[in-house]
Amino acid sequence: MLTKTQPDEIQDYLADASYVKGGHASRVVFPESAADVSEILAKATSDRTHVTVSGAGTGTVGGRVPFGGVVLATNKLNQLRIENAKCEAQAGVRLSDLQSAVNAQALFYPPDPTERSCFLGGTIATNASGARTFKYGATRNYVQALKVVLPSGDLVDLRRGELFAESDGKISIPLSSGRAIDAQLPTYSMPRVRKHASGYFVAPGMDLIDLFIGSEGTLGVIVEAELKLLPKPAGVLSGVVFFDNEENLLAFVREARQRSLASRSDKSTVAKGARLDARAIEYFDSESLGFLRQKYDTVPARATGAIFFEQETTPATEDSLMGEWLVLVETHHALADESWFATNEADQAKLREFRHALPVLMNEWFARYGQRKVSTDMAVPDEEFAGMLRFYQDSLRGGDLRHTIFGHIGDNHVHVNILPRNDDEAARAWEIYHRFIRRAVDVGGTISAEHGIGKLKRDYLVELYGDQHLREMAALKHSFDPAGILGRGNMFAEEYLSVVSR
Ligand SMILES: Cc1cc2nc3c(=O)[nH]c(=O)nc-3n(C[C@H](O)[C@H](O)[C@H](O)COP(=O)(O)OP(=O)(O)OC[C@H]3O[C@@H](n4cnc5c(N)ncnc54)[C@H](O)[C@@H]3O)c2cc1C
Repeated sequence: MLTKTQPDEIQDYLADASYVKGGHASRVVFPESAADVSEILAKATSDRTHVTVSGAGTGTVGGRVPFGGVVLATNKLNQLRIENAKCEAQAGVRLSDLQSAVNAQALFYPPDPTERSCFLGGTIATNASGARTFKYGATRNYVQALKVVLPSGDLVDLRRGELFAESDGKISIPLSSGRAIDAQLPTYSMPRVRKHASGYFVAPGMDLIDLFIGSEGTLGVIVEAELKLLPKPAGVLSGVVFFDNEENLLAFVREARQRSLASRSDKSTVAKGARLDARAIEYFDSESLGFLRQKYDTVPARATGAIFFEQETTPATEDSLMGEWLVLVETHHALADESWFATNEADQAKLREFRHALPVLMNEWFARYGQRKVSTDMAVPDEEFAGMLRFYQDSLRGGDLRHTIFGHIGDNHVHVNILPRNDDEAARAWEIYHRFIRRAVDVGGTISAEHGIGKLKRDYLVELYGDQHLREMAALKHSFDPAGILGRGNMFAEEYLSVVSR
């Protein structure tokens, strides 16, 4: 098994897209099979060495940044098989490769975190989601089976629909040795939001495969997954619609959203494919457009906001759906003549690239000023979103902190990036961030809807769930990882991990 120890060879594995500093490890190991992973973890448990699991390092919360011990890099677990619309893929398969292979067979894998260079294992470990989550939900919905190696070295095969928690929250996972992991689920209820990636997934009578999805490398190493695929949509219509008035933009979103949700819940016989039904509704505020103008001089000068949308079509519905969207654009007084629409794959890729360029520009900013990322990832219940957006805007308006607000408005989930240029601005940015956290929790929202908690946001998890529930989460982790070796520092501050190891 390949092991790297030289500083210049391992430095890429000591950081991620969070720009959390100070990552260090004695070595990086590259298992090529589940048996290799098992050997690494069993040894680490016996000598109490911390292990941090590494995917592609696109995570934004420091989850794969190690502070001691070894890094288990999944790069060589990269086998992919698609047969009869069934996809089996190892953890280190790059999502862009998986998407291309699926696409080539006229199939469709909906999860689409904006950054496609991530690995499948990383997306499952964070329950990643993205623009299409508005229609299709998060990664969890597409994971049918998982192979997971536990810190003891035991390999567990979990298939959806086979193993469930009891009604009192007790769980038991049988191991091939004849032993079982017996544990108790935490007693919290998850927030009532459309997306959630904060802490362990917990629900009465839940399918135990869901415990590992979104567990951020703290319970086991995901080595392989079987994924649900859908038929590839015949066509997609997408657009970037510009506005010079925010009330109009928000009214456009409200109508597009309501009609899309109604179209999905309506069981009538009217041809569904012919109805307006967005699969993505994404927001850019005025500041975001200011940044994007650095790269795109075609962004209209008078635009103060924009919406990116995607809608699936067929040859029979394409024209009528285009008509429906154009009526919506006119009704809500968008800058119709200056907006962009795409019906072929090449043009759609350009619009997606426009959407992707913004978080990349934000990350470049944080890197340039050497600051940690101050980026919100909160989602709130439907009825709270308008107030939350106003709260974001009012808190930042008139101040000297640069910021952008953009993202998944269809899911009541926009990212506020506050862009500090020095330590004083960073301190103020974190104070504002904390206010946003408190507000999200107060209105029943989640503190992370898609990026997870990692090391950057663990101090806020206690605000969502409270100290007792954090202790219950730590007790659950302890049942799987009694030596406390795996994903150390992710989700839990040290005080919550009762067994302290080296
Ligand atoms: C520009 C940009 C845009 C982004 N947009 C989105 C978005 O829209 N939606 C979204 O959800 N995310 C988004 N992200 C975040 C990121 O792409 C996802 O979190 C991604 O799923 C992480 O995958 P990765 O392979 O890079 O994981 P890493 O960053 O390497 O790891 C992430 C976490 O998962 C753990 N992990 C990795 N592999 C495994 C495994 N095999 N078993 C157990 N644990 C494992 C790690 O220990 C770590 O805690 C964005 C990131 C960037 C840089």
